[in-house]
Amino acid sequence: MKAVLETWDLCYTYNGETLALNHVTVAFYKGERVAVLGNNGAGKSTFFSMLNGLRKPDSGGVKYNGAPIGYSRKELIGLRQKVGEVFQEADRQIIAATVEAEVSFGPMNLKLPREEAARRTSGAIRYMNLDGYERRSPHCLSGGEKKRVSIAGVIAMEPEILLFDEPTASLDPYHVAQLEETLERMHREGRTLVISTHDVEFAYRWADRVLVFHQGRLAADGTPEQVFSNQELLKQACLKQPVLWQAAALLAERGLLAPEKGFPKTVKELSRLL
Ligand code: ADP
Repeated sequence: MKAVLETWDLCYTYNGETLALNHVTVAFYKGERVAVLGNNGAGKSTFFSMLNGLRKPDSGGVKYNGAPIGYSRKELIGLRQKVGEVFQEADRQIIAATVEAEVSFGPMNLKLPREEAARRTSGAIRYMNLDGYERRSPHCLSGGEKKRVSIAGVIAMEPEILLFDEPTASLDPYHVAQLEETLERMHREGRTLVISTHDVEFAYRWADRVLVFHQGRLAADGTPEQVFSNQELLKQACLKQPVLWQAAALLAERGLLAPEKGFPKTVKELSRLL
């Protein structure tokens, strides 16, 4: 299978001092749901900033659809139509005075015909359930609403790949559930989703594939089952096993669950397997 986005031997150092990425080679395929785990400072945000060309690697590189990305203004505008990022802090992303202006910012920047920009803007506003918010100031919205505005801004670009930097960090459980519904919809539409998170429970139930970063290196790349069964890796990367995984492992040990039938991803699945 051909990768849609890939990096090879990526290295990056801040101010010639802090080595943030150390020889990272990884490929993403169409329609995948990838969780990127790692403790603070592991290199996840820096890695994302390489994937959308926000920063240029010291060595190694990034390819989109098999071709190395370029860093001219024109090439970067083209790349960001394909690879969109939802930043961790919505306030960093949001710049406009109204929700509508914010969501239309990307399409307007692409110099699309006015009707096309308007179509994308209203489509993205509807997609994120923001009808009625058009004239409101994004800065006066709640955390969950701001997050929806920043996702709408990315959706309006109609990207193939979406990067989310710790999207659940500032959300309450209700808004996490809402976000998961949006992610499910994006997945059904065939988009490639890459999400950095500290939340191992979310990574376990949501991802097809898990990457683990540790001190700037890609310490693991596998299925959630492969990653969460590797105790040594989890200890090294300071990550915990998901509670549901621990419970299922315990039940399998006691002969109450057949591991060959697969480990449950939700309590409902666990109940069905028991
Ligand atoms: P993560 O997203 O996993 O928390 P980061 O990519 O933000 O990790 O950070 C990787 C390393 O780079 C850390 O050691 C961090 O202190 C350093 N770093 C991140 N951003 C900057 C910056 N703007 N200037 C200097 N060092 C930075």
